[in-house]
Amino acid sequence: MDGKNENLEHGNFDCDEYSFGGIKKRPHDIRIGNLNIAVIWFFDAEVEQDRRILIPSPPRIVRELNAANSIWRTSDGVRKVKVNMVYSNYNDSNQIYTETLDEKGLEKLVRIGKGYYKAADVYVFYLPGISIMGSDAIGRALYRVIDNELTYIVIMSNGARDRVESTERKGSDYVLAHELGHIMYYTNHYGWKQDPKPNDDTLKSDGTPDIGHHDDDTEEERRNLMSPSITSGVIPTITDEQVIRALQSRFFIPGNPGPRN
Ligand SMILES: [Zn+2]
Repeated sequence: MDGKNENLEHGNFDCDEYSFGGIKKRPHDIRIGNLNIAVIWFFDAEVEQDRRILIPSPPRIVRELNAANSIWRTSDGVRKVKVNMVYSNYNDSNQIYTETLDEKGLEKLVRIGKGYYKAADVYVFYLPGISIMGSDAIGRALYRVIDNELTYIVIMSNGARDRVESTERKGSDYVLAHELGHIMYYTNHYGWKQDPKPNDDTLKSDGTPDIGHHDDDTEEERRNLMSPSITSGVIPTITDEQVIRALQSRFFIPGNPGPRN
């Protein structure tokens, strides 16, 4: 076992759940994790496709999927997350905007998503609007129990789209990869829900340490995919420890208990 895995076992986590008969269980060594996502885009979501032509993979979404698949891998290429778009569709039955998205809106979204496809690991919604729910966030990962099912959700705004506005580069193709990172951390099989080098010297708006993000103390750390913000036009970095942690998501554990537990 190399130093990196050693760290995972003896980090400052609550170890009760994964010690067994006094012997610490080793984390599974998952090499390839398949993350199955269902993607639904709504009227006025900028996916770079004429809405009269409903091809199942709009250019923006394809780019962002490619970005996620290119970054969630170890430097030696041996371990990786494969983000599979198992379902995609356009929906215009509801006008739901990121700025005014509320709990009712989330419920609607999840029901629409599940109406199309029942068993995705994550439901990704592309919505119109520049920022999300009164914050300055352009993407958001969250989970909710809706209709008695725990569902993992990613919201992507038009503000996240990689684009140039009056010569200024904005958004990033890597926002989706970042949000999926949060989901993989949230669902860590061992309960290690934080980034391996957490941004714990910063408090979130609710007063708790920002452990879901990567530390952002140095220039290099700020380039990391899981740092609190992504710089437009810059390809982010990722560490092997982060990929290994992501691969510990229960979505990838053999005999996957699924999202509903
Ligand atoms: Zn984040």
